[in-house]
Amino acid sequence: MNFLEERIVRDGVVKEGNVLKVDSFLNHQMDIKLLDQMGAEFKRRFEGKPINKILTIEASGIGIACIAAQHFDVPVVFAKKSQSINLDGEMYVAEVESFTHKCINHVIVAQKFLTPEDHVLIIDDFLANGCALQGLIQIVQSSGATVEGIGIAIEKGFQSGGRMIRNLGFQLESLAIVDGMDAATGHIQFRDQDAVSKTGAAAGDDEICRSCTLD
Ligand code: 5GP
Repeated sequence: MNFLEERIVRDGVVKEGNVLKVDSFLNHQMDIKLLDQMGAEFKRRFEGKPINKILTIEASGIGIACIAAQHFDVPVVFAKKSQSINLDGEMYVAEVESFTHKCINHVIVAQKFLTPEDHVLIIDDFLANGCALQGLIQIVQSSGATVEGIGIAIEKGFQSGGRMIRNLGFQLESLAIVDGMDAATGHIQFRDQDAVSKTGAAAGDDEICRSCTLD
């Protein structure tokens, strides 16, 4: 088990409905030393890529992205989930279905912060069905910038997002991949990461993401 998997086993809580709570160290209270280790690991996995910007989505991705950005020495842009009076000028907008909140969000990035010259690493806390990621990818592609890679803290390998994103040809690096979890026992099954890099494939079902498309 790697450092993040060990922490998930120690402090993560499996809830009914295939939800993993990691709010004591990752996405509510944040363990900054852990986030720093994650940032270093993202840097190692994307070594050699000409990344000049990190893109994430509010709110949970921001802390992880900011600490990672210190390792890459690049700025962070976060997509906003709603219009605000502070957003001005032209904007890129994508529709995203929220797994946790079961609703449609618009994710918005001001056009001035993503340009065709940008080489972007996308970072987020969870990957489930991939809707959030598809929205972010769509925004990067609308801007003419390049997606250099995608870094995820926790991928739920039994949902379809990881398979879909890898099949689209993106370098997707998830620090922990959960292949199964049991709310009754609290047991969490992790994927052998070496198996992922050898096959490039995700185990699990063949479900496709019905609720979001790239077009
Ligand atoms: P997706 O768009 O890939 O279906 O879901 C990704 C988003 O849903 C993440 O940004 C995360 O906020 C949330 N999410 C999905 N599954 C879980 C989960 O098991 N636990 C928590 N805490 N958040 C989740």
